[in-house]
Amino acid sequence: MTARKKIIVLGAGIIGACSALRLQRDGHDVTLLDRDEPGLGSSFGNAGSISGSGCIPIALPGMLRNVPKWLFDPLGPLSVRRSYALRAAPWLFQWIKASRLDVVRAAADALHALNAGPADGYRALLSPDQYGDLIQAAGCLHVWRKRPAGRTEALIRELRATHGERAEELGADAIRQLVPALGNTITAGLLLPDSAHIRNPHRLVQALVSNLAEAGGRVVRDEVRGIGFGAAGPDRVLTRMGSLPFDGLVVAAGAFSGRVASELGLRVPLEAERGYHLTVIDPSIRLPMPVAFGDHKFYATPMETGLRLAGTAEFAGLAAAPDWRRSEALLANARRVLPGLDGSGTSVWMGRRPSIPDSVPIIGPSPKHANVVLAFGHGHYGMCGGPGTGRLVADLVAGRAPFIDPTPYSAERFTRAAAA
Ligand SMILES: Cc1cc2nc3c(=O)[nH]c(=O)nc-3n(C[C@H](O)[C@H](O)[C@H](O)COP(=O)(O)OP(=O)(O)OC[C@H]3O[C@@H](n4cnc5c(N)ncnc54)[C@H](O)[C@@H]3O)c2cc1C
Repeated sequence: MTARKKIIVLGAGIIGACSALRLQRDGHDVTLLDRDEPGLGSSFGNAGSISGSGCIPIALPGMLRNVPKWLFDPLGPLSVRRSYALRAAPWLFQWIKASRLDVVRAAADALHALNAGPADGYRALLSPDQYGDLIQAAGCLHVWRKRPAGRTEALIRELRATHGERAEELGADAIRQLVPALGNTITAGLLLPDSAHIRNPHRLVQALVSNLAEAGGRVVRDEVRGIGFGAAGPDRVLTRMGSLPFDGLVVAAGAFSGRVASELGLRVPLEAERGYHLTVIDPSIRLPMPVAFGDHKFYATPMETGLRLAGTAEFAGLAAAPDWRRSEALLANARRVLPGLDGSGTSVWMGRRPSIPDSVPIIGPSPKHANVVLAFGHGHYGMCGGPGTGRLVADLVAGRAPFIDPTPYSAERFTRAAAA
C-alpha cells in the first residue's frame, strides 16, 4: 500500500499524462495542471514513431563532420538562429561533448532501459479499444539514397544489436515492394519490424487524460508562475488564478521545465530543440508504415489526420516566432523522394523538444527537495519514453523499488558535474 498523497503534476503532455495516470492508479489524489488543453505542447505534432530506436542518442561520434554544412543552410536539418547563437552555444558545446563514445554507450543503455517496449507500456495505460484505435504496430522503414557507411553507422548498428532491436537491411527492389510510393532515388533501407506508431499523438494524450479523470484524478487549466515555500520546503504552486497546495509535485512541463527547476535552485542543461511538421491532409499516396528519410532527417508518418512530414531541429529559444519556411522545406524534400505526393490541404506546426545534450531525460527527486520529482528532457524520444517515465515516477513517489535503476536519469549528474 502506498500512502495517499496530494500530488500536482505540472504539464499535461505525454510525460505528465502517463505519470499522473500511474500516480492516480497508485491511490494518490492527483491534479494534472496545464495552462492549455492537454496535449497541445510538443506531444501534439510529433512524428508518432515509437520504437526500440529510442536507444540511439542524437549526439554521436563522427556527426561533427556534418554539422557545419547543416548550420549554413537555414532550412537544413539543424539550424541555429543568428540572434540565438550565443545563448545556444553552451548547450551545443555540451552536445558535442556528449558524442564521446563512453557517453554515447551509457546514454544508449539508459535510453533502452526507459524506452524499451513502448507499445506494451501504452497497452497497460489504455483500454483495448483505445489501444487498437491509437497504436499501430506496422514497423518502421529507414531509407537513404546511398547506404550510409563509416563509424557512426557501424555504432548505430552495434547499439541496436546490443539492445536486441531487430533490423533488416533491404535493397532497392525490396524497399519498393514494401513502400511502392518511394521514388527510385532511394536505394538503401533498414526495416525495424518491431516498431509501432501512434495514429494521432494528440488523441493519445487526451485518452490518457480521460482515463485519469475516470480514475478520480482532476484536470485543471491554469498557468504556474512560481513555487511557494513553507517551513519544510516547497508546498504549493503559485498560479495565474491563485495557489494550489501539494504534498508532492511532479515537474513535467517539457521544454519549459527549466524555469521551474531554477525556482528550485537547480540549473539544468535543457534546451528547446524546435521541430516542425507539415501534414498533407488528404494525400494522394498511402504509406503502410512510417518512413524515416536519413538524408534529409525527417519522418513521413501515416496518421489519421493525413500524411505527417515531421522533423528538423532549430535552436531559437522558447519564445521566437516559428519560421514556416522550415515546414515548407519538409514538403519540398518529401516530394523529391515520394514523387507522387500531392493532396488537398496542408497544416503546419512547430513544437519544442525538451532536449538534454546526452539525450537522457532527467527523472528523479529534485536534489534539494525530496517531495519534488523532475520528469523532463525527453528530447526526440518522449513518445517512446512516456510509459516508462510514468512508471518510474510512480515508483519513486511510492518509495518502492524502482522498476529500473534510476541513477542514470538523476539531476544530480549535473550538480556533480558543476561541482567538479
Ligand atoms: C518534430 C518532432 C517530431 C518528434 N517525433 C517523435 C517521435 O517520432 N517519437 C518520439 O518518441 N518523440 C518524438 N518527438 C519528441 C516528443 O514529441 C517529445 O519528447 C514529447 O512530446 C515531450 O513531452 P512532454 O510531456 O515532456 O512535453 P510537452 O508535450 O511539451 O508538454 C509540456 C506541457 O507543459 C505545459 N506547461 C509548460 N509550462 C507550464 C506552466 N508554467 N504552467 C502550466 N503548464 C505549463 C505545456 O502547456 C505543455 O502542455 C518529436 C518532437 C518533435 C518536435
